[in-house]
Amino acid sequence: MLGLKHLSAIRHITKILTTRSYSAVPPLTKLTDDELLMKEAFAKFAQEKIAPKVRQMEETKTQDPEIIKGLFENGFMGIEIDEEYGGTGSNFMTTILAVEELSKVDSNISILVDIHNSLTNPLIKRLGTAEQKQKYLPKLATESVSSFALSEAGSGSDAFAMKTTAKKEGSNYILNGTKMWISNSDIADIFILMANADPSKGHRGITTFILEKGMEGLSIGKKENKLGLVASGTCMVHLDNVKVPEENVLGEVGKGYQYAAGFLNEGRIGIGAQMVGLSQGCFDATIPYLLERKQFGKEIYSFQGLQYQVAEIATLIEAARLMVYNAARLQENGLPFLKEAAMCKLFTSQVAQKVTIACIDWMGGVGFTKDFPHEKFYRDVKAGTIYEGTSNIQMTTIAKLIGRQYAS
Ligand SMILES: Cc1cc2nc3c(=O)[nH]c(=O)nc-3n(C[C@H](O)[C@H](O)[C@H](O)COP(=O)(O)OP(=O)(O)OC[C@H]3O[C@@H](n4cnc5c(N)ncnc54)[C@H](O)[C@@H]3O)c2cc1C
Repeated sequence: MLGLKHLSAIRHITKILTTRSYSAVPPLTKLTDDELLMKEAFAKFAQEKIAPKVRQMEETKTQDPEIIKGLFENGFMGIEIDEEYGGTGSNFMTTILAVEELSKVDSNISILVDIHNSLTNPLIKRLGTAEQKQKYLPKLATESVSSFALSEAGSGSDAFAMKTTAKKEGSNYILNGTKMWISNSDIADIFILMANADPSKGHRGITTFILEKGMEGLSIGKKENKLGLVASGTCMVHLDNVKVPEENVLGEVGKGYQYAAGFLNEGRIGIGAQMVGLSQGCFDATIPYLLERKQFGKEIYSFQGLQYQVAEIATLIEAARLMVYNAARLQENGLPFLKEAAMCKLFTSQVAQKVTIACIDWMGGVGFTKDFPHEKFYRDVKAGTIYEGTSNIQMTTIAKLIGRQYAS
């Protein structure tokens, strides 16, 4: 049986462990003054420039070109690109805040900003040669939309089973195959694309290439007819003997699988931010209605049964946000973040589904109509459990890392 002596020893050890595990980490979820200013700028842009066009983009199933131009003009497409290349020279948390704020209003625009800032820009920024950075970063910061092309029809969760090949011929690679589900590909000028340069080596042949719109043999298929995110183009990218000069290999030949896996870990925090923003946007569009709408002679918000549900959902959103900010700060500080990134993608996408379902329930019949934004939030949210690694894949990662942690 444990006596007081044992309890005090346990308390002592717990104190040491707690102090040690937190002392290396700055206050994780607190935002700096600069970050708060940027957050306000993103929120203002979302309200003033995006909100008035959401319905129209939904009907035409296209992202408004003026909005995209505005994103570049305001520095939202080069958030972490250094100023010498025309970028904003900001940090990863700022990218996260951009995605969160824009998602409160429209996830079609936020997914474009997310993929560009959390996947393609960092890949070139961190792996690019001096020439590649000089050539592509200024364009990415100021005018060119980009795509990240990994998935294929036969390789989604098992992404490294890809069939697209890159055969070396002289100083060029000849690319053949078809990529599927490629976001932004309908409007992209620059593609970061994975192809296997040596299938005999399995996934160790996968190599990352920078492709440009207009390369002979590169063509984009029609947009997928989707449940949600209907304004965001998701298309096949066909490669028919596309000649890519070897100077367009990004990083080392055969390391593409490492790069894709590594950068997608960061991307997942971005999707977490999208899920939090979407949840908050849907919640914000709901509570004022509950405060006004009367049934049984009272505002429906006054019913305790409803208040408890609201409190629970608000708590889930807060927890989800803290997980996203925590994972972002771990990444920024060079601390291990893979488990936290997978957890935050898993949790935020589950929470966001719960939030949109609850909000529609609380709105009653009107929440089921297209006169209110809730049904769009409800459709858009579904991609969150699928792209950048499904929920099952996140759970596989989390369990693997926990197993390793306890085995060591
Ligand atoms: C809107 C949208 C945008 C996208 N944008 C891009 C993009 O820009 N670039 C890009 O490269 N890709 C993109 N994707 C592709 C996306 O990453 C894949 O759809 C995703 O990885 C899942 O692959 P899949 O669709 O082939 O499903 P599958 O891999 O076939 O999975 C089907 C089901 O099986 C489960 N499953 C598979 N393997 C396991 C396992 N080992 N254990 C347990 N369960 C398992 C999955 O969790 C899922 O529930 C996008 C997808 C969508 C829907």
